[in-house]
Amino acid sequence: MSNSHGFLADVTNMFNDAAEILALEEGLAEKIAVCNTTLTTRFGVRLRGKMYTFEGWRAVHSNHPSPAKGGIRFAPYANHEEVEALAALMSYKCALMDLPFGGSKGALKVDPNDWAPHEMERITRRFAQELARHEFLSPSQNVPAPDVGTNETTMIWIADEYRRMKSHDINANACVTGKPLAMGGIEGRIEATGRGVQYAIQAFFQTPEDVAKIGMDESLEGRTVVVQGLGNVGYHAAKFLSEESGCKIIAVVERDGSIRNPDGLDIEALRKHMTETGGVSGFEGGEFDSGSALSDACDILIPAALESAIHDGNAHEIKAKLIVEAANGPVTYAANTILRERGVVIIPDLYANAGGVTVSYFEWVKNLTHIPFGLMERRRDEEGSRMLARQIENMTGCHFPAESAEPFLSGAREIDLVRSGLDEKMRSAYGEMSRLWNASEDIPDLRTAAYIIAVKRIAEIYRALGIG
Ligand code: NAD
Repeated sequence: MSNSHGFLADVTNMFNDAAEILALEEGLAEKIAVCNTTLTTRFGVRLRGKMYTFEGWRAVHSNHPSPAKGGIRFAPYANHEEVEALAALMSYKCALMDLPFGGSKGALKVDPNDWAPHEMERITRRFAQELARHEFLSPSQNVPAPDVGTNETTMIWIADEYRRMKSHDINANACVTGKPLAMGGIEGRIEATGRGVQYAIQAFFQTPEDVAKIGMDESLEGRTVVVQGLGNVGYHAAKFLSEESGCKIIAVVERDGSIRNPDGLDIEALRKHMTETGGVSGFEGGEFDSGSALSDACDILIPAALESAIHDGNAHEIKAKLIVEAANGPVTYAANTILRERGVVIIPDLYANAGGVTVSYFEWVKNLTHIPFGLMERRRDEEGSRMLARQIENMTGCHFPAESAEPFLSGAREIDLVRSGLDEKMRSAYGEMSRLWNASEDIPDLRTAAYIIAVKRIAEIYRALGIG
């Protein structure tokens, strides 16, 4: 499993590279790098006729601005250092994407597969009580979201527990994001991180000077892709890239091995097979073996499982020209150096998987305003488009073509606005990173450019507050 000590050191090393180029004044770099507060909680839950003790954490890396934002993962290997590293990444991610959040992350040391749903509900509700009691859960201070091992049901349990404890808080629903639609969620949140990965890859391929660095042209059509981890993020990224962008997913690496198909895997069918069987072996639409396809020849490699998947032991074998870090920290600091020297371009995690927190930001704003996006303007926009279409028809004597009438005439739905907002955020952040990377020889890669933008923004806030 993940080497969390190495992971925290890797995040610190990546931060240090940027801080050195920025030449921050003495003491400020250290203030930014360290986690402000980490709660460790151990609580008991009576289950199956006896008391079980669970251990969990919530780290706040930075809370300028507030609230601090970041997922909660449920995993048997979770630990304090991993949570702090992930919280730091969240601070840099939110700063890079220019979102008004500090960085946080939480984890509970538990394997959700060991417990029935009603038992997980009791465990989660107790964890939520601890977080709220210690001010590590609230719409204004700390707002969790789903991550590995948690989902929208987990978020409802947490939100409901918070609401019971703070019944006078009219914004209680905004204490978590990633909720189901019926409970104050937002269209497009479940797909958001994978959708953001697709937008990140599109932004890269629309930037000629960056695509030239890996010797490709600007078309995504027919690009071969290997994905590690067909969970929430990997599945959505693979689905959108294959169904909409013309890519071929030639291999998926999962816990039980790899499934390959040089003509492209049917991602929907594979996901259905995984839901039914728990793995990729036995899937009839490809060739299975128990090894790893991470080093298969392909254009784009998308690690979307867990941290440190690509390390100094296997970085030399990677054949992809472009790695897109859909997971958090999938390439170690040492592997990053090896790959860069080999001319591989890496789209870094703090940008590539920022779609989730970006759409979480939209959900949080929707909850605080208590009104769905597009409600006030949709019919008015439709009427405006209809009037324009009528004028064009009158002036030209031609009818508006039926196939373009519907998309032109109908006002934007919430999902359209969410995707448009996400695309805008992903494109503008990519443009900033790319311009910085191409502007200076001192900036060796996109990751360093991303960290520089993020750290500069955080440093400015600390200086303005007088902490610097
Ligand atoms: P998930 O639990 O839904 O999916 C993880 C997938 O990886 C599962 O299918 C699992 O079987 C597979 N996996 C686990 N270990 C593996 C291994 N050793 N080899 C191959 N496959 C393995 O989790 P997720 O929400 O998709 O998150 C994946 C990554 O993306 C994590 O690093 C997470 O922090 C990051 N992330 C998630 C979100 C989000 O919105 N869910 C947002 C940002 C970042």
